[in-house]
Amino acid sequence: MNIATRPSEKIAIGHSACPHDCPSTCALDIEILPDGKMGRVRGADNSYTAGVICAKVARYAERLYHPDRLMHPMRRSGAKAAGFWQQVTWEQALDEIAEAFARPRRSTAPNLCGPISTPARWAGCSAIRSSG
Ligand code: SF4
Repeated sequence: MNIATRPSEKIAIGHSACPHDCPSTCALDIEILPDGKMGRVRGADNSYTAGVICAKVARYAERLYHPDRLMHPMRRSGAKAAGFWQQVTWEQALDEIAEAFARPRRSTAPNLCGPISTPARWAGCSAIRSSG
C-alpha cells in the first residue's frame, strides 16, 4: 500500500470506484493532470480507505499508458506459449467469446466450467458447473 499524501491543489481530482472484481470496492481519488491524463490514484478520504489504496490500483496510470498495453483483440495463432498471435476485430473477438460461452450449454459433458461473478462483485471469480 502507498501512504497517502494530499495532492497538489493545481491537480484536479476525480472521484470513482475501483473497477476490479474485489470485495473491497474501494472509493478512489484520481489525479487529472493538466493534459487530461490520469495521474496518481489514491484511496478516497473516508473511514475505509483513509487515503490509502492497494499497490495494483495505486499504479494504474503506469498500465494505462504503458507502450506494450494491448489496444486491440489478439487471437492465439499457434501452440500455447509459442508466442504467435493474430490481430482480430472487436466483432470477431466478441463473436468468438459469445460462441465459447454458449458452447457448454449445448454440450452434454457434465464437468464443464465457466467463470461467473455476482452483481455484488463478491469474492472474485468463481466457477459453476454447467447443467449441460
Ligand atoms: S483493494 Fe485494490 S483491487 Fe480491491 S477494491 Fe480496493 S483498490 Fe480495488
